[in-house]
Amino acid sequence: MHEHVFIRAEALHWGWPGFSGWDTEAELAAAREKLRQLRLAGVDTILDMTIPGIGRDAELVARAVEGTGLKVMFATGFYTYDNLPLPFQLRGPGKLLDGDDRVLESLFERDLTTGIGNTGLRAAVLKLVTDTPGLTEDVRRLAHAVAAVHLRTGAPICTHAHAPTKRGLDQQRLLAERGVDLSRVMIGHSNETTDLDYLQRVIDNGSYLGWDRCGLPVTLPLDAQIDTLAALCERGLADRIMLAHDKASFIDWFTAAEADPFLPDWKYTYIHSSMLPALRERGVSEQQIEQMLVGNPREFLSGAGA
Ligand SMILES: [Zn+2]
Repeated sequence: MHEHVFIRAEALHWGWPGFSGWDTEAELAAAREKLRQLRLAGVDTILDMTIPGIGRDAELVARAVEGTGLKVMFATGFYTYDNLPLPFQLRGPGKLLDGDDRVLESLFERDLTTGIGNTGLRAAVLKLVTDTPGLTEDVRRLAHAVAAVHLRTGAPICTHAHAPTKRGLDQQRLLAERGVDLSRVMIGHSNETTDLDYLQRVIDNGSYLGWDRCGLPVTLPLDAQIDTLAALCERGLADRIMLAHDKASFIDWFTAAEADPFLPDWKYTYIHSSMLPALRERGVSEQQIEQMLVGNPREFLSGAGA
């Protein structure tokens, strides 16, 4: 429910082709092999949460999954921790070209209803990003645009929320103020805290938890993350949690040589090869695992859980 295939800073890859070692044909082949392994592990479908700001390219991803048997869903939104690009510094509420944010909203709405560019591939979800800078003016604008387009289209909302600073609660408050039914919202990166009270509050407010950085021990050791997840399952909350890795086949934030030695478990197959056995050892049932991997995404995407 939250993966990536290719993450690239548009300005750098447009300005300096080949930035960070990018080679289209080589990366397509590498991605195809990794996605084939994911399919073989038993995964039918992934949600690619790459949006503009980090280089969404639906056509390239479609080529990467060709022949793997894997299905991919896409997302829309804009990825920033603080500011929107310059066109939106001149246009919008209180700006030189004063008015509403219908231009911003129309970008998201088109992706969901007509398709991304000319690909004919439609986005399935809206994404909202809130990191350590919190609810900056532009992050607020994005939240309001996401809420407005959600209300018009019914597309569910998936977030990037900095869990240690409890950003999920900020997102819930802002979205609820705009009339969003919080059961249509997945608060992402929830595995990056062991604060059960925070996680319980997010669920009590109605949303799903995106337990979506499995295998990534940057904020917390993997054992602590699995212990927290098992504790949530023991509280009977498996029907509100969805799993993912937030992995990319290619990411230009660091090279594979820089990251792989430190992050050996951060791979598309970590959940199936390592995490599910560890959950079973901690008493999590097959039915709860099935619920997190299949039942909850189905309910969330169809709106049946609302
Ligand atoms: Zn992500």
